[in-house]
Amino acid sequence: MADSGHSTATLRLTVGRLRIAHPITVPTAPVPAAEIVPALQGLVNAVVEAAEAGHTVSCRKGCGACCRQLVPVSRTEGERLLQLVEAMPAERRRALSARFAAAEAAIEKAGLKERGERSDRELSVAYFAARIACPFLEDESCSIHPERPLVCREYLVTSPAELCAGERQEGVTPVAVPKVSMAARGLQDEKDGWFPLALLMDWSRSRPRKAKRRPGPEWVQRFLRGFSAS
Ligand code: SF4
Repeated sequence: MADSGHSTATLRLTVGRLRIAHPITVPTAPVPAAEIVPALQGLVNAVVEAAEAGHTVSCRKGCGACCRQLVPVSRTEGERLLQLVEAMPAERRRALSARFAAAEAAIEKAGLKERGERSDRELSVAYFAARIACPFLEDESCSIHPERPLVCREYLVTSPAELCAGERQEGVTPVAVPKVSMAARGLQDEKDGWFPLALLMDWSRSRPRKAKRRPGPEWVQRFLRGFSAS
């Protein structure tokens, strides 16, 4: 269905044991990939909602232990987040910029800027041990909650909140949410599919400036192809 510059379709997905039917609306005209991120956020929300049904989730506002984990962000989401930051009032941008600079310095000091020989798991454990708060974390709550990255949406736990602060996360029981967010990596044919969210400003200094434009439905099809291949 197309209406006033937008196309809407109902996506029907089988993800593991979950069956999702979710309406998605995207611009019909060619747009940069970042413009379909709101539609992907809605899709991930629908998957998360289906996955958490029947579970008692213990995540609460004001509990930001997991916001010290390594948060992998795709180029497409990085571009969307940069737009979000650019649209903020100058004072907020200055505060954020200082927090990003501090996080970047801490990552460098902890020797975590380069992956080296580390596996994903080893890198995640070392990153969490360094206790580097996400620059978007304010008063232990996400200051960009409606716009938080896809992967942040997919992380929910049912275990007691205090366990989440443990260095090796012993006893932490995440809800089994299918990682739909992974399909955003490589959406724009980038080879290095992700970077740590805390390095958003560092990434922005060297990021590719040229963004391909495609009709919204085409971006969604690429995303779904990436999802079924993952
Ligand atoms: S973006 Fe928000 S939810 Fe995600 S790690 Fe940062 S503060 Fe936490």
